[in-house]
Amino acid sequence: MPYTQDQIFNEAHRLYGLLSHVSKTKAQKWTLADCQAAAPYILAINDAKKAKNAVVLAHSYTTPDIVYGVADFRGDSYQLAQKARETNAQMIVFAGVWFMAETAKILNPNKQVVIPAGQAGCTLADSMTAVDVQKLRAQHPGVPALCYINSSAEVKAQCDACVTSGNVFDIAQKMPGKQLIFVPDMLMAQNIAIELKRRGTPKEIISSGGSCCVHDKYRPEQVEKLRADYPGIVVIAHPECAPEVCALCDYVGSTKGMADYVSKSDARQFGMLTELGLVNRLETEHPDKSFIWPFGVCSYMKKNSLINTLQALLAPRPDQIVTVDVQVAAAAQKSIHKMFELAQ
Ligand code: SF4
Repeated sequence: MPYTQDQIFNEAHRLYGLLSHVSKTKAQKWTLADCQAAAPYILAINDAKKAKNAVVLAHSYTTPDIVYGVADFRGDSYQLAQKARETNAQMIVFAGVWFMAETAKILNPNKQVVIPAGQAGCTLADSMTAVDVQKLRAQHPGVPALCYINSSAEVKAQCDACVTSGNVFDIAQKMPGKQLIFVPDMLMAQNIAIELKRRGTPKEIISSGGSCCVHDKYRPEQVEKLRADYPGIVVIAHPECAPEVCALCDYVGSTKGMADYVSKSDARQFGMLTELGLVNRLETEHPDKSFIWPFGVCSYMKKNSLINTLQALLAPRPDQIVTVDVQVAAAAQKSIHKMFELAQ
């Protein structure tokens, strides 16, 4: 690659300055050698972005070399959907999973949207089809339907609005009636029912679908062990975790919610019932705090790398170019816009 040793050295040391205390695996931290290997790709991607008028949106669950090396914006599904709506760039490189890149395409039908990880799935988005939603709605006529943003464009197109983990409880509360269809996260559906009851606005939540293969692994015993091993630890979780786990935690919220909670908290040690990527972000941004992480890696998110980000920018393969059927996109766009409206 056409970069001098000085350029590579400087970029490697910039990255290492951020990541030297950040977990690469449960047992390993990011090393200077990791950062040296990443540096030429980071330089090349940042140059290619300028040449192509492209922007890189990276989900917090992707690896830190992407998040801190090449991302123009980093965040959770809702934050990235907002950024996708606002960007003036001609090309969007979405380091995330397919449903997220699809959402960016629906909001930007005239822009090229590519996903380095190709058709990277998600156990939630893959658990439900449009026909499944149609059947559910036919069984419960007149009941409003919400879908989690972790769903395909076809599923979004069948629902009244979509939601993210950051606004799900507020939007569920705003929906009319005493019954609500919520797909495709069966555990989040249980958490909605509990939260709405707690708020004094109970609803029957009718759900179908699956669960997140990362967050559904956490168990109440792990929370108890964290508290026993680290007295005074603050334990936080994502609402994709089971209700019996959430009930034992100090805070339950979206990826952004958890990040904000840690920023504002005076606590020094946090038990993290979520994906490694968020732990990495918090380790990077709060070097004065420590994070204990039982385990949890999304293999779909980790399919994004600097190598395939550069390749997708320069010469995307057909499976990396996001397309959505025009009619499906129009109906899904209504569901996404309804979320922005209800989230105000
Ligand atoms: S962490 Fe879970 S919900 Fe998020 S993309 Fe991976 S499988 Fe899907």
